[in-house]
Amino acid sequence: MNPNILILGAPGAGKGTQSDNIVDEYGVDHVTTGDALRSNKGMDISHLGLAYDTPGEYMDKGELVPDEVVNEIVETALDEADGYVLDGYPRNLDQAEHLSAMTDLDVVLYLDVDEDVLVERLTGRRVCEECGATFHVDFDPPEQAGVCDECGGDLYQREDDSEETARERIRVYEDNTAPVVEFYDDRGELARVDGEQTPDEVWGDVSDAIETHA
Ligand code: ADP
Ligand code: AMP
Repeated sequence: MNPNILILGAPGAGKGTQSDNIVDEYGVDHVTTGDALRSNKGMDISHLGLAYDTPGEYMDKGELVPDEVVNEIVETALDEADGYVLDGYPRNLDQAEHLSAMTDLDVVLYLDVDEDVLVERLTGRRVCEECGATFHVDFDPPEQAGVCDECGGDLYQREDDSEETARERIRVYEDNTAPVVEFYDDRGELARVDGEQTPDEVWGDVSDAIETHA
């Protein structure tokens, strides 16, 4: 049986980067609410009668998309997966409770990174519009600026990776998601990894933690 892995960390902590390694090594599905929501930014959610009528309006402000929308995306994706690495969910305690009722986790990883480093990582992030590969203008630059090394596609900067929205997302993380890290820590389930090391060093610690717990 493939492992069920949860990867926690602030925006920019390196969850997507390490999830790619986990997928390559263990053949699990990458379930990421951020990517799922970005593909459905314009979805009509007006029937829910909430503050905004599409997920994109929450995302562009750095706010959380309502639980009703996100819980359903995760439920469907986990049902279909034979082992997964879950990235970007749960982002608050209600989502964490919902997840506990939905599935059993084998490993809960937490990538620990300081706020100043997070802002640098988010504002320098570039993503391939064709294949989704992630680069960084200083820490992981592509061979040719603006061009994906993997597929030759154009690189773009996510709208919510501006400095202002990045700081707001980190604030939203501290208010809503830091308690989720405590929730798993209190249950003795958290494998804490120093996320400020090089990507290869982080991967070494992540894979050790998975081998120990899964
Ligand atoms: P998250 O999915 O947690 O938001 P990403 O994996 O997209 O974070 O990483 C954010 C940015 O930081 C990307 O541009 C990525 O290339 C870069 N990055 C990821 N891990 C590291 C690391 N260990 N050291 C330096 N830069 C990193
Ligand atoms: P990410 O790609 O994980 O940085 O997420 C980008 C944006 O998508 C967030 O700032 C939120 O607006 C939204 N989002 C992603 N995951 C969730 C979630 N679990 N709950 C609520 N909103 C989410």
